[in-house]
Amino acid sequence: MKKICFVVAMEGEAKPLIRHFGLRHIGGRFGQLPSQAYEAFYAGKEITLITNGVDSETGLDYIGCEAAVLSAHLAISSFPPDLIINAGTAGGFASKGAQIGDVYLSDRYVVFHDRRVAIPGWDKMGQGYLPCADCRNIASRIRAKLGVCTSGSSLDITEEDLEQMKQTGGEVKDMEAAAIAWVASLYHIPLLCVKAITDLVDTGHPTPEQFNDNFLLATQRLDDACFRLIDEKLIDEL
Ligand code: SAH
Repeated sequence: MKKICFVVAMEGEAKPLIRHFGLRHIGGRFGQLPSQAYEAFYAGKEITLITNGVDSETGLDYIGCEAAVLSAHLAISSFPPDLIINAGTAGGFASKGAQIGDVYLSDRYVVFHDRRVAIPGWDKMGQGYLPCADCRNIASRIRAKLGVCTSGSSLDITEEDLEQMKQTGGEVKDMEAAAIAWVASLYHIPLLCVKAITDLVDTGHPTPEQFNDNFLLATQRLDDACFRLIDEKLIDEL
């Protein structure tokens, strides 16, 4: 595990990582594409970090699966890593014991919850069931929980999404992990997702408010977990 690549959707999620690892921005690495690259040598590792970049008209981060596929592909094809870490925020379920600020590591596989193709074979393909590294031995060391990460294109949740999550066991809800897992699987590169909970999707409180209120706390916890994975060499135990 010498070359580690963080794939991060939002600048706000990435900033503390950029600071901690002393990552340098490599301007224009991907031409006119929005993804942004950063790199550094740190603790004997070559660390790169890719963000999805920002829409120049609105100033908003490009979130979601399409931007995540682009970033993951650019990251892997320009500096192939030994491990991809998708670090980000996510929604959790109070009914499954999640609390705001909890950190989850991906468990078992990574799935989609809004790709409904009710034809035998295609149904499973739509859900993805993409591989992720076995993190069971390191999760407790950083006081992280383990959960199946599940991705879709919306911040809110529908009855149909919930039905899919019931089938797959998905409990850490975001908008990028499965897209990144798909690209990682094509290149046979191990992936681990580190997700901090900004909102609880089953408490009746509006998700956007929760997200904004808890973003700073969650990103601190997220970034602390990522520092420890590298600083305490936990990724070498995967
Ligand atoms: N209002 C935010 C928009 C963030 S959208 C802003 O100020 O820019 C949500 C982002 O956080 C996505 O990258 C997604 O991966 C993650 N996320 C956090 N909570 C989520 C949830 N409940 N459902 C889906 N994605 C969530």
